[in-house]
Amino acid sequence: MLAFKRSDWPAKGVRTHRYSVLVPLLLLVVIGPSSTSALRRLKNGLPTPLHSNTLGSLDNLKWRTSSSISSKDRTESTTTTTTTISPPTTTSVPGTNSTSPPISEFTTWETTNSASTLTEITTLRTTDSALVISKPTTPAKANLPSLTSDTTTNLPMTTFPESTTTTKSLSQSTTPQSTTTLTTIRTTTTALEEHTPPLNPIITIISPSSTNQPDFNYLLPRVMKPLHYDIYVQPFINGNYSINGSMAVDMVVLQPTSNITLHASNMKITKDTIKLAAAEGEAGDDLPSIKSFTVDTTRQFFTAHLTGELRPGRRLLYSMNYISSLHNHQSGFFGVQYLDSNGTQRHLVTTLLQATHARKAFPCFDEPDLKATFKLRVARQSNMTAISNMPIRRTVPMEEEGWVVDEFDTSPLMPTYLLVLVIAHLDYVSVTSHGRVPIRVWARPELLHKTALVQQVAPVTLSYLEQYLNMSYPLPKLDFVALPSDIGTAFEGWGIIVNYNEELMLFSPDADPKDQRDMVVHIQAHELAHQWFGNLVTPSWWTDLWLSEGFASYLQVLAFTKMNRSPNMLEEMAELLQDILQSDSEPSSHPIRLPVYNPRDIWALFNPISYYKGSYIIHMMSHFLSENTFRKGIINFLKDRKYKNAEQDDLWRHLTVAAHQDGTLPWDVTVKTIMDTWTLQTGYPVIKVVRSPDGTSATVHQERFLLDGSEKLTDRNFYKWWVPLTYTRQDNPDFNNTKAKVWIRNTESQIMIPSLPDKHQWVIFNIQSTGYYRVNYDLGNWKLLIKQLLTDHRVFPVTNRAQMIDDALDLALVGKLSYKTALSVTEYLRNETERLPVQSCFHNMEHLEKMLWNTPVYGGFKKYMLSLLVPLYSALKIHNDQQVEAVQKEHADLVKRLCDLNHPDCVHLATSLYSQWMQEPKNLKSVPQQIRETVYCTAIAHGGEEEWQFAWRQYFLSNDDDHKDQLLKALGCTKDSWVKAGYLNLAFTPGVKLRSQDMFQVFSSVASKVQGHHVAWDFLLNRWNNVTALFGNGENVAEIFLKTATESFNTRQNLMELKFFMRTNKKYQGVEKASESAMTRTYSNIAWMDRNYDDIRLWLNNNGYSTNLQVL
Ligand SMILES: [Zn+2]
Repeated sequence: MLAFKRSDWPAKGVRTHRYSVLVPLLLLVVIGPSSTSALRRLKNGLPTPLHSNTLGSLDNLKWRTSSSISSKDRTESTTTTTTTISPPTTTSVPGTNSTSPPISEFTTWETTNSASTLTEITTLRTTDSALVISKPTTPAKANLPSLTSDTTTNLPMTTFPESTTTTKSLSQSTTPQSTTTLTTIRTTTTALEEHTPPLNPIITIISPSSTNQPDFNYLLPRVMKPLHYDIYVQPFINGNYSINGSMAVDMVVLQPTSNITLHASNMKITKDTIKLAAAEGEAGDDLPSIKSFTVDTTRQFFTAHLTGELRPGRRLLYSMNYISSLHNHQSGFFGVQYLDSNGTQRHLVTTLLQATHARKAFPCFDEPDLKATFKLRVARQSNMTAISNMPIRRTVPMEEEGWVVDEFDTSPLMPTYLLVLVIAHLDYVSVTSHGRVPIRVWARPELLHKTALVQQVAPVTLSYLEQYLNMSYPLPKLDFVALPSDIGTAFEGWGIIVNYNEELMLFSPDADPKDQRDMVVHIQAHELAHQWFGNLVTPSWWTDLWLSEGFASYLQVLAFTKMNRSPNMLEEMAELLQDILQSDSEPSSHPIRLPVYNPRDIWALFNPISYYKGSYIIHMMSHFLSENTFRKGIINFLKDRKYKNAEQDDLWRHLTVAAHQDGTLPWDVTVKTIMDTWTLQTGYPVIKVVRSPDGTSATVHQERFLLDGSEKLTDRNFYKWWVPLTYTRQDNPDFNNTKAKVWIRNTESQIMIPSLPDKHQWVIFNIQSTGYYRVNYDLGNWKLLIKQLLTDHRVFPVTNRAQMIDDALDLALVGKLSYKTALSVTEYLRNETERLPVQSCFHNMEHLEKMLWNTPVYGGFKKYMLSLLVPLYSALKIHNDQQVEAVQKEHADLVKRLCDLNHPDCVHLATSLYSQWMQEPKNLKSVPQQIRETVYCTAIAHGGEEEWQFAWRQYFLSNDDDHKDQLLKALGCTKDSWVKAGYLNLAFTPGVKLRSQDMFQVFSSVASKVQGHHVAWDFLLNRWNNVTALFGNGENVAEIFLKTATESFNTRQNLMELKFFMRTNKKYQGVEKASESAMTRTYSNIAWMDRNYDDIRLWLNNNGYSTNLQVL
C-alpha cells in the first residue's frame, strides 16, 4: 500500500517537536497539506512519514483532510459508549434463498481495557436467529482536541435504516476496574437441527481469570487451514447501504480440534445458515455438529464449538450468510458518494482490506500466511461495472430486474487482504501495447482522458519489473483504477491497483506540474512492485512488513529513475536518506522488524521506518553485495517463495548463497549476520574517523546517533552494527566503487584503517551515501574537505556534497561538531547549482533560524542564507521571463525560500502577481497554484491592511478547501503585530464563520512566523479559557497549542512565563504536563544557545554576514 505521502518531513532540529504534533494536528484537520504541497512533496511517490509513536492507521492520511477529523482516527482507542441496536427488518437477498430474519432479543455486555483509564464497552448481541458482531473499539478518542464534546460514536452497524441507536456514558463509579480484554460467551442450547443449532438467547458472560491478554493470543489457533473461499456478495449501494453476503470456505484440519475459529467483525451472521459439512468427495457421517458459538470482540474471533473432535487431514466446508454495512469506514466493503460532472450524486462500492479488515468484508482466516484461492460472485445493478482481482468468467441476469451476477475466475493462492472489489460507474481504456497481459485503465468517464500517462507508463514499468525480477507478472490481467474518493492512498490489489484518490492516477500535461507526473509514475510503480513483493511472496506476518513495503519503495525508485533517467537513483536515494535518518535518530524510533500482534500495532508499522529505512537498507545491500549479486539473490528468493510466504531470514539465505557464489562476501560472513543488526536494532550509527597525526591511518569508531535528550539513554553504546565502510582519497578519488572496503563488525567498537594518504590530503567515507549511517571526522580532515569544497566542490558527487552538509549540521545540532565547522561546510554553497545540497542546508537551518530570530545575529544569518541561494537562483534563470512560470512551478520551494528571505526579485514577483489577482479576484489562475501560498504570504507580509483584508474576504468567498488553507496561512504572514493579534481574536470570536479546523490553522500561522510567536504566546497566556471553551479541556489541546507557541523558546524569561502559565491554568487538563514538556524543550534550547550562539555569531561576523547595526 502506498501508505503515506512524503510530505511534512519535519525540519531538522525542530523535528522532535513537529513529529509529535503531526498526528494530533491531522486529527484536528488543521494542517493537512494542500494538495499542491502534498503533490510537490510526493515527488518520489513515497509515503508521508509519521512518527512511529504517533501513527494511526494509514487511512488517517488524507489528501484533503477536511472532514477527516475523529472519524478517520482508527487507532484502537476506547470509548465510553455502549450501543444497542434494534432489530433490522427481514432483508431478502436477491439471487439467493437466504434471508435475514428479524432479531428478537439481544444482550449487551462490556469489557474493560487495562491499558486505558477509559472503559471499553463492547456491544454484541445474540438472538435466536442471528449474531451481531461489532468491533468494540470505536474511533472517538475522548482526549483528542475536538470541537465536539460528544463522545458518542456511530458504530457501523447502527447505520442500517431500520436500526436505532441509544447511547449512554458510564460514570467512573460504574467502570469496572478489572483488566479484562476478553469476553467469552457461552451459549447453552440443544441442537434442533444437525450442525446448525440455534443460539440460546440466554447468555452467560464469563470474564477470564487472567488479567492481561497476551499479544500473541491475537493469532488464530493453527488447527485449520483454509484452501478455498467461495464468496457471494450483493451490495445495496444505491439502496440502504447494506451488503448481503455468503461465505463458504473449504478447509483442512491440521491438528485435532473441536473448535473452528475464524475472524469476523462488524457483521450480522445469520445463525441458521451456518453449516459445517464434509468437503466434496469426503464422507460426512461422523462429522460433529456445532453446539455453541463464542464471539471474542477484542480479537475479532468467531468460534464454533463442536460436539466432537475433528481429525487432522479432514477436509470440511464451513459456510454462513451474513449482512454488513457499506458504512464501514474505509475498510472492509464500503460505499463512497461523489458528484459526477453533471452534479448528480453517485455511489460506488469498494474494498480496503489491508491489514486486518478482510474480516469486516467476510468471515475468514484473516492472517497473511493463511493463503487460499478465492472465487468471487458479485450481484450488481446492470448499469454499473464490477472489477476484481481476476477477469470475469461470466455474467448472468438475476430474477430482480436490472440486476446481474458477475462470476470472477478463481484467484491464485493469496492472502485475504489482497481481495479487491470495485462496483462503480467507470469507463476504461485498454492498453494494447507490448506484452501478453491485458491492461485496462479505469476512471470516471469524464476523467478518462487524464489517464494517458498511466496508459503509457504502466506497460513500460510492468515490463521493466518483469525483466529486472526475471519473472513474468503472474496474473492474467491488470487493472488500474482511479476512484473518486478522498482516501489518500493507493492499494496493490493483486491484478487490480486501486487509487483511492483520483489525483494519484491522473495527469494533465497542460495543467499539472511535473511533480504531479512524477508522483503518478512513482505510485503506480510502487503498487506494481507489490505484485511480486507482497502479493506473489507475502510476508509471513506483519512483523516482516518491510519485506513488502521496503521492496516496493525501493523498486519504485529504481523503476522511476531507470525509465526517466533523471535524477539518478543515487541522488533520489540520497535525498530519501536524509529524511529517514532524521526520524530514525529519535530515541523513540523502533527497529524495522518489530513483533506486532494486535491490529493497532500492525497498523503502526505502516510508517517511514518500514517504507524508507526498509528501502534504504535494501539500497545499501545492493551496493555492498554489488548489483548483480543482489539481483541474483532476490530473483532466487522470489522463485523459492512464490505463492507462499517469507520472513526476512528467507531473503538473507538467498542473498548469502548468491554472495558466496559470487565471492562478494567472505565465506564466514552471512547476510543475516550483517543485516540483522540493521533490521532488529533501532537507529543507526555515526562513524567517527580520526586520522593519525601523519594522516596515513585512521581509527574508525561507531556509536548510535541520537538527537537531543538522548544522553539519558543508557543503551546508547550498546547498539553496534555491521557497517560497510566505503571511502576514497584526494590523491586518487574514486566515487564509483560502492562495495565495502572494510567492515566494522558489531563486536567491534573501533577498527584501524591503514594506508591512507598523508595529512595534507582528505579522505571521505560513505561513497555516494550508499551506507545507512552518518560520518564525522577529526577537525583536520573536516578542514581538508571544506577546502576542497571551496576550491572545486565538483570533485565530490552531489550525493556526498549533500550528505556532508546534512551530517555536519546534524552533528552540530547534537553537539558532536562545532557550528564553526558545520557552517564552514555550507559556505561553498555559494557556488552550488544543484538542488539537493542547497535543500539539505536549508532543511537543516530551520532550527537555527528559530533559535536566532530574536537575537542580534538574525539579520546576518538571513544575509548568509540568501547568499547561498543566489547561485541556484541564477542557474535556474528564474529571472528569465521566458521560463519564469515553469521554473516557479517546478521550484516552488526555492521561490518560497527566496521570498522568505526578502529577495527583491521574488518579492517583486509576488507582489505584482498578487496585485493582478486583486484586480481580477475571479481569475485565480493569475497566480500559479504551486506558488500561491508563497505569493499570498509575501504580498501580505510586504503589503498593508488592504492586501490583508482582500485575502480575508477571499477566504469567505472561496469554496475550495485548499485555497482556504492557503489564504489562512498567508494571513498570518503580516508583519504587523496588531494585525496578527487582531487576526487571532477574530478567529476565536464566536460567530465568525471559520471552518472548525481553521481556528488552529490561524493560531499556527501566526505562531510560526518570526514576528508572530510572541503574539500567539500572549494569546495563550491571556485567553486559555477561550481555547478550552472551543477545543475542549483535553490533554492534547494543551500539548498541541503549547508546542506550537513555544517551539522557539530559548531564554530564561521564556521559562518563567511558562511557569506562570502552568500555575495560572493548572486546573485545566493537560496544562501541567504540556507546560513541563515545553519547559524541557526550552531548557534544551537554552543549553543549545549557551553552547553555540557565540560560535555562530563569530562565524557570521568573520565571514562578512554581520547584522550591520551601527553605533552613531
Ligand atoms: Zn506499499
